[in-house]
Amino acid sequence: MKYYSTNKQVPLSTLRDAVLKGLADDNGLYMPEHIPQLGNSFFATLRKKTLREMSLEVAVALFGGDIAAAPLHDIVYDTLNFDIPLVKVTGRCYSLELFHGPTMAFKDVGARFLARLMQYLTRNEQSGTNVLVATSGDTGSAVANGFLGVAGITVTVLYPKGLVSKIQEAQFTTLGQNVRALEVDGTFDDCQRLVKQAFLDKELHARRKLTSANSINVARFIPQAFYYFWGWAQMPPDSEVVVCVPSGNFGNLTAGLLAQRMGLPIKHFVAANNANDIFVQYLQTAEFSPHSSVATIANAMDVGNPSNFARIMDLYGNDYAKVAAAISGYSYSDAQIREIVKRVFDDTQYLLDPHGACAYEALREYLENDKNAQGFFLETAHPAKFKETVDEILGAGIAIPGKLQTFMRGKKQSTGISNRYEDFKAFLWQ
Ligand SMILES: *Cc1c(COP(=O)(O)O)cnc(C)c1O
Repeated sequence: MKYYSTNKQVPLSTLRDAVLKGLADDNGLYMPEHIPQLGNSFFATLRKKTLREMSLEVAVALFGGDIAAAPLHDIVYDTLNFDIPLVKVTGRCYSLELFHGPTMAFKDVGARFLARLMQYLTRNEQSGTNVLVATSGDTGSAVANGFLGVAGITVTVLYPKGLVSKIQEAQFTTLGQNVRALEVDGTFDDCQRLVKQAFLDKELHARRKLTSANSINVARFIPQAFYYFWGWAQMPPDSEVVVCVPSGNFGNLTAGLLAQRMGLPIKHFVAANNANDIFVQYLQTAEFSPHSSVATIANAMDVGNPSNFARIMDLYGNDYAKVAAAISGYSYSDAQIREIVKRVFDDTQYLLDPHGACAYEALREYLENDKNAQGFFLETAHPAKFKETVDEILGAGIAIPGKLQTFMRGKKQSTGISNRYEDFKAFLWQ
């Protein structure tokens, strides 16, 4: 499979180049040259397959030309070493719980796959690969844990001192092994600037092989398609299935569109936004007007310029009418999110996290106008990851799962540096 850039100003890329580069040289996002179709025999037995079995078949269709059968099997099976249950919340609304992985958020799937694929693609190289990530919280933990223990790759996480939550910080500073944390005396923007400058530094490149693990990487985006098949296969038989995705950068939703294009009979998609409703506005007005983000209690969706918008437009031939026919959108203020979490918990005892709350409500609203359909929404994080917010909404303290407690008991290992590039470079140079 070759990969093209959505900006179409550069030649086709191999899988290796697309993964190690992340972003194409024309600043476009990589997309697979053709979208393979899964045949009737795949769908006829879909409900009998395990998550790993069906994911491997999807992976073979997409990556089978580039990765031999045995290593591809291992990459997929190692990635999916946790359950993704589908749980009924109310009447026709189900929750696909994507938070049972190591950092208790859906980003574990893409990050774990990327790490294993990157190791495979660089397996014959002498020098190790350095992955640099700047994080404001969640990306750092998913990437660090995704790469933890993966041979031949060192991860350096840069985060702004005092500006990430304790629990987020614990998820990437207590790991050790091949993960190094740099506590930068500055802002998230400083962290991003340092990483960008390192990528442009030819002298450093000559000495160190540097790459990123950005959320736009094809190898983080594509594996997210796996669990749409899984969610669909667990819905009641013969239902018309609508899927709702809480969205920020829209990588997760775009992976669902890819699954549908591969033949998965999803009837309709619903996008849920918080107050950063750029995409919902686009659906309403046909105008895409990115602007700076505003802070909300569903902060992993605080995105003012969703990068995967380019992929969505590409999938629909840049035709607004087609996008608007395929996807509906709803957005919620912080006050609404609080009300949703409280109401659903009081009515059903199901506890949503602030992101899942947007998605639950958007699905419920959509299904009011489509009485024949049922649906699932992606519950993208465990509510305890947003404990302060959720405790305040419920007026009670929720329990912290053992997995998160283990991180918090770990010993913090991080190196403090200034926000000057020379200091960062000296650290990488050692
Ligand atoms: C990253 C994230 C999202 C948004 O996903 P996108 O693929 O960027 O749209 C939603 N919920 C949680 C908990 C996240 O961490």
